[in-house]
Amino acid sequence: MEPDYDRILADIAQEVRPLLALGAPADYIPALARVPRDRFGMAVRTLEGRIHAVGDADEPFSIQSVSKVFTFILALRSAGDGLWDRIQREPSGDPFNSPILLEQERGIPRNPFINAGALVVADILLEALEDPREELLRFVRARSGSGAVRADPEVAESERSTGHRNAALAHLLKSFGNLRNRVEEVLDFYFFQCSLRMSCRDLAASFLFLANRGLCPVSGERVLEPSPAKRAAALMLTCGTYDAVGDFVYRVGLPAKSGVGGGIAAILPGRLAAAVWSPGLNERGNSLAGTQALELFTTKTGMSIF
Ligand code: GLU
Repeated sequence: MEPDYDRILADIAQEVRPLLALGAPADYIPALARVPRDRFGMAVRTLEGRIHAVGDADEPFSIQSVSKVFTFILALRSAGDGLWDRIQREPSGDPFNSPILLEQERGIPRNPFINAGALVVADILLEALEDPREELLRFVRARSGSGAVRADPEVAESERSTGHRNAALAHLLKSFGNLRNRVEEVLDFYFFQCSLRMSCRDLAASFLFLANRGLCPVSGERVLEPSPAKRAAALMLTCGTYDAVGDFVYRVGLPAKSGVGGGIAAILPGRLAAAVWSPGLNERGNSLAGTQALELFTTKTGMSIF
């Protein structure tokens, strides 16, 4: 029997409320530091098309690194397994923007979901796609079924003006010969993808194809074959929630990808996708209330991948 999602989401929203004041918004990107901490939204979309939402689930927010799943999938579709010559697929155990392993491992990033890996993915897309920005937007709009998905130039500019670590990573990659395009072009596209804005409702819809063996129930298109779709979900599980991934999977039990805007997208294969947003982050960069909300969701529904 299907759980009573509406009641469960209402209970979760109430239970996480005291946590909203405890997290800290990412303040190293000035445009994100201004987002009010009291926001909380959550949406669940089932494969059958039912949508359940609570709180600020319709308010667009900066999805930041959640976009790394979309770009990774576009790169996988164009580069295929060749992508793994340039990026590994192991959790890093280091902060997402750390240059340490990149130097030690001679310019081959640990995985596509840390910043260095996403910069290589951006480089692949700049070569493979005619108009990478437009194609990324088109891809996310088609997956979510929503024309409301936008890039936010103010956030991109805010990142560019403070993105010294990302610039350092890109130069390091270039010095090891793992970027083919100019550093500035790669950074530009990377900041663009990080600046995508969408609501929990649209974000949950946009991840549904990963819960459905690569077939997008929103557009009816086959995005990936089942095998690469399985692999993408496996990467989310092992590398999707920063260097807190062990703790996150222990608590939540779902493949997920988080971003420093406070969003987290998660999938339960064969059943649903969920998105949660609350800007206050824990010390590892995952949404504090968002992580708790997903933990409550799998606990209350009794559903996880385990
Ligand atoms: N734009 C952010 C950065 O590169 C993305 C970080 C994130 O969400 O993990 O620092």
